[in-house]
Amino acid sequence: MSVQVSGRSAGQSKLTDNDLGRYILHYLMSSRGICEENVLLIALMRLCDEPVEEAGEMDIEGWQKRLSDVIKRINLKLNGLDYKVVQISHGMGKNIVASKSKEAMQFCSRAITSPGATALSATNRFYVYIDVGAVEETKLATRFSQKEVDFIKHAIQKTCESGFNIRQGEVSATSAVVQEVDRVRRLVLERAGAAFEPWDRYTTFAVGSSLLTQHRALNALEIEDMIIRLCEYKWFCRNEKGEISLDLRCIAELEDDLLSTYEFPACQNCNRLAIYGVMCLHTDDAPAMWHVDCYQYQIAHKDTHCTACGESLITNGVYVI
Ligand SMILES: [Zn+2]
Ligand SMILES: [Zn+2]
Repeated sequence: MSVQVSGRSAGQSKLTDNDLGRYILHYLMSSRGICEENVLLIALMRLCDEPVEEAGEMDIEGWQKRLSDVIKRINLKLNGLDYKVVQISHGMGKNIVASKSKEAMQFCSRAITSPGATALSATNRFYVYIDVGAVEETKLATRFSQKEVDFIKHAIQKTCESGFNIRQGEVSATSAVVQEVDRVRRLVLERAGAAFEPWDRYTTFAVGSSLLTQHRALNALEIEDMIIRLCEYKWFCRNEKGEISLDLRCIAELEDDLLSTYEFPACQNCNRLAIYGVMCLHTDDAPAMWHVDCYQYQIAHKDTHCTACGESLITNGVYVI
């Protein structure tokens, strides 16, 4: 998450809009096609020679607009090539994204540590470079062999099935999603003078790699190699337990297929695919999901009860971690 764009020396002329687009795209590509919005904002400030240290006084919304204009120009150029840069929100929510990127920055010697960076508010938004030219089958076939494509579909199917397998019992207190959902619930319960109780059910749209090595078309070594490649490609990622899940680039490229073919859940609030947050199991219907930030919005501004089944979303829920 480091920003490696060096400032230009005084007296050089300002970059043109085309130059800005080229550098921002290059920076995004060198970050394997995914950047948190704030990281791109800092890169843009650097390119425009605006002192990041003064970011506290500047209008962040103005910079966001400027970045979005740069991305629009990039997309005009990419249009003919069937590629696009899109914005996608991370389902774990802005607080978890912010703390993860802070951790990542502490490991990068060239990271931005200036006070300006802290003036940027926490965000769950990422920019992702994606292939928009083909349907799922062709999209995969241009990059992977048929055997590998079969494995990828198998792995996606397994992570989806895992998410609908609700587990009962002790829930991991170290899970970032559990902590964030509980923080949000505590606020509401305290206001109502009610006692807080952790939920005893959870699920996860992630699977251990041992489950995936049962796939017959590839051997264990080939599968391990494939998983590493897919993680580098930001299609898959590993959670803190080492389990495999879908990363943002896979979601951004295949969202429609994931929702319709594999039947991943869509968030009740924003209608986008959801694999982290809160689930309401209902009694006689398919479960409902909310992203972490959408859950907070739902119970703070809309309704603390599930609109489908009427159960409380504060006392009766499933963590999706
Ligand atoms: Zn949502
Ligand atoms: Zn419900």
